Amino acid sequence: MISKQDLERLAQRDGNGHPVLSVFLDMSVNSDNKRTHSVFLSQKQGQFAELQGAGGSSQPEAIGAAFERVEEWLSTSYREENRGVVIYAEIGGDWFEALQFPVPVQNRLVISDRPLIAPLAQVLESYHHHGVVLLDREHVRVLSVYLGTLLDEIEIRKEPIPTNSHVKAGGYSQKRYQKRKAEEMRHFFKEFAEEVETFVRRHRPDDLVILGTEENVAKFREFLPEPLQEMIVYTGAMWVDETPSQVMAGIEPYLDAEKEKESQQILHVLRERVQQDYLAAAGFQSTLSALQEGKVDTLVIAEDQDRDGARCTQCGFLFAREVESCPYDGSQTTPGVNVVEEAIRMAQAQGAEVEFVPAAEVADLRGVGALLRF
Ligand SMILES: [Zn+2]
Repeated sequence: MISKQDLERLAQRDGNGHPVLSVFLDMSVNSDNKRTHSVFLSQKQGQFAELQGAGGSSQPEAIGAAFERVEEWLSTSYREENRGVVIYAEIGGDWFEALQFPVPVQNRLVISDRPLIAPLAQVLESYHHHGVVLLDREHVRVLSVYLGTLLDEIEIRKEPIPTNSHVKAGGYSQKRYQKRKAEEMRHFFKEFAEEVETFVRRHRPDDLVILGTEENVAKFREFLPEPLQEMIVYTGAMWVDETPSQVMAGIEPYLDAEKEKESQQILHVLRERVQQDYLAAAGFQSTLSALQEGKVDTLVIAEDQDRDGARCTQCGFLFAREVESCPYDGSQTTPGVNVVEEAIRMAQAQGAEVEFVPAAEVADLRGVGALLRF
């Protein structure tokens, strides 16, 4: 599994002189129930061999060795249930790291001075981590669900007061029994709410889903502290002992719709602000400038995008396209800088939110935009 901590750690990894081979593989099976990543890998390896033949690479053996490490890991450590793989292998160095997860990524292979993190950020930002609470009056289960997978589960079962068969309907003891049952429910729900709080502290889900009968869900909500109530994105009916896969299948359409709505809202605000020229950026140059000034609150960027720009060798300013010399100081620039990668890294370093959207949805903003803090 992967987490935001992996992304942070990889983003902080500085170049140490050794180039890094970054490999992203789609491990989904096709209609013939086969994986096709090896075709992609050998194609890429062939391209590097051609470059080497043309004198393009100074260390053909080291590149070959990095490819071998990738193959080795795939044959020994890859687990069949996963559909996405990210592998980093230092060329001519020791560092090697591989991550696998249950959702696919686009095939991609790059050699650069630092590990490529944008596609990994895209996976992490495109899926929310959900805390799913299932309850009735005597039981609560809390599931940690991420990338369509159950990561963890806690369960509490309370012993209810036994039903007293001697209690006569409408009598004094019937009333007392009902009062005791109501007290019992408050008592249990209070304890369940504390469990959910502990769960949220430990697992840090992005949102909460509460499932049970309408009455129980409404009552239980009141026992949750305000910040947790605000995390609730969906409530609905579900049997407390439903299997995790049934629970996930049942709530997925609602959560997908919620995510889509959120993304549409951000796009709506961004377009409005761009029109009014108020705390917004659109297009690569304007967004890169805002990122370099540390102004970005939310970066909105097209999925699976690739773009080369340049960096000034003197002042370090990033340009969204190849420019020969820096307009600020006339210095030379380094071409071939991956500006998508740079944008994600800057957003990450500033703690800005990153929203990946289908390319067609930000075509009018030229592939990227940002909501600014000031
Ligand atoms: Zn410059």
